[in-house]
Amino acid sequence: MKCPYCQEEMQLGYIPNGGQPVQWIPNGERPSVLSFSIAEQGVPLINQFKPFKANGYKAEAHYCSNCKVIIAPTKN
Ligand SMILES: [Zn+2]
Repeated sequence: MKCPYCQEEMQLGYIPNGGQPVQWIPNGERPSVLSFSIAEQGVPLINQFKPFKANGYKAEAHYCSNCKVIIAPTKN
């Protein structure tokens, strides 16, 4: 993925999380109280669940070291 700011190639990595998928939640809303769940207003990032290797969810994320920005695609 090319950085939309500087057009350089971004570095692919991930954002680790625990028992809930990595998700974006609007200010004023709370995460679900349940594991494995997305909040009602939550927007899930593209998640993989790796219970043994990574100890939970991890979301795909692209990093640009020039612009100090991370872009994480969402599922829907
Ligand atoms: Zn950039």
